Amino acid sequence: MTELTFDCQSCGACCANFRVDFDESELESNGGKTPDSMGEPIGHGLYRMRGTDHHNPRCSALQGQLGVKVHCAIYEFRPTPCQSFSINSDGCLKARQRKGLGQLSL
Ligand code: SF4
Ligand code: SF4
Repeated sequence: MTELTFDCQSCGACCANFRVDFDESELESNGGKTPDSMGEPIGHGLYRMRGTDHHNPRCSALQGQLGVKVHCAIYEFRPTPCQSFSINSDGCLKARQRKGLGQLSL
């Protein structure tokens, strides 16, 4: 069976598809790592990555051109939903498909 691999640095689809919500405890001001300026309060102790609430979501930390060359400006400080998002997961495949990046790079 052929192993399918994606290169996240030439993708970025997941960072421009979903709302990214995280607990307030992840904010720098609360002892976490994620810069306060990147989160917008949405209530119930949750914050949303800036830009992911838009009609066409795109996290404001995502730099570069989708599907060409991208990187996360706060990679080491990104919240847990980003850390736990798995490449080749259903969400990954869905995000790529929605952005017309369904082609698998081998
Ligand atoms: S959609 Fe998948 S391949 Fe693309 S950046 Fe996210 S995890 Fe990586
Ligand atoms: S913080 Fe980084 S990894 Fe998370 S959605 Fe934004 S650009 Fe993507």
